[in-house]
Amino acid sequence: MITRSPANVQIASDLSPPSSSSSAPAWQRQLAEVVRDPVELCRRLGLGESALPGARDGHALFEVRVPEAYLSRIRPGDPDDPLLRQVLPLVAETDAVDGFVADPLEEADHTPRRGLIHKYAGRVLLIASPACAINCRYCFRRHFPYQENSPSRAQWQATLDYLRDDTSIQEVILSGGDPLAASDRQLAWLVARLEEIPHLKRLRIHTRLPVVIPARIDDALLEWLGSSRLQKVVVLHANHAQEIDGEVAAACARLKAAGVTLLNQSVLLRGVNDRVSALADLSERLFEAGVLPYYLHVLDPVSGAAHFDVPDEEARSLVDALRDRLPGFLMPRLVREVPGAASKTPL
Ligand code: SF4
Repeated sequence: MITRSPANVQIASDLSPPSSSSSAPAWQRQLAEVVRDPVELCRRLGLGESALPGARDGHALFEVRVPEAYLSRIRPGDPDDPLLRQVLPLVAETDAVDGFVADPLEEADHTPRRGLIHKYAGRVLLIASPACAINCRYCFRRHFPYQENSPSRAQWQATLDYLRDDTSIQEVILSGGDPLAASDRQLAWLVARLEEIPHLKRLRIHTRLPVVIPARIDDALLEWLGSSRLQKVVVLHANHAQEIDGEVAAACARLKAAGVTLLNQSVLLRGVNDRVSALADLSERLFEAGVLPYYLHVLDPVSGAAHFDVPDEEARSLVDALRDRLPGFLMPRLVREVPGAASKTPL
């Protein structure tokens, strides 16, 4: 089965597509120039022929996308590099495994408006962009029907009406894809409309872009984000300390200076961060960059990603051992997302 990737989707909204023109912001040029060819990815990293068949097969299911800024942090010639493991397709992605399905969180059942997911009390999630800068092989939305959930600006109006009518909603979470793949013009428009709804207090942005293309945190973004009346929380997504280099730390510092609370969520992934030392280093590195560890998710059982799974018992022992090494404020909460549950479920 050929699966549409988030970045392949024909965007039905007013979002600006990535632009490689020299007048486009640096981050948009980087977005337009991501590596999308598995053969090119292997060649650039000096990986031998043995990696290619799996890379091609997995790519046919969910396309490869790797920004240069992320590629530069991968160790050449090391097929076990923890960053490479997150982006290089393996032949195991083609295995059908019992319990691993296309929509593991059953999000299709919680979309009262196009692009709006309302699962939890007091907060809603908006699909602000169907695009991602990077395609993570374990992504629980790798089969998400973005085409059906990409509202036009007129359709956003129905979503805004929904938010206005439900005064129990205090927080809006921008998600995707990656919401920061949308243009600043589009995001500024959306956030201005949200600010007009008096009962909304918080704007939360779930994004991996500051990690994979730190240039995304530029003056244009800080202008609309920093000036918002809403309390601002950015939840990053980093899984390994090696992902957080000096440029990522500088992007985090810019967000903090704009009044943003910074948290991180990660996914426990076989072969990436399934060791106590890797998890401890991640928490330490995040805190050095001004980011608090928030959640450590066990893998959502999405088809094509079973080879990343770490059994619950092992996950609990890893976190128990981590607790012996870290102060409480550096401990992420080990959770699972259970379809239909009123919040994340602690393990
Ligand atoms: S995990 Fe996040 S950044 Fe990665 S492909 Fe999925 S939505 Fe995009």
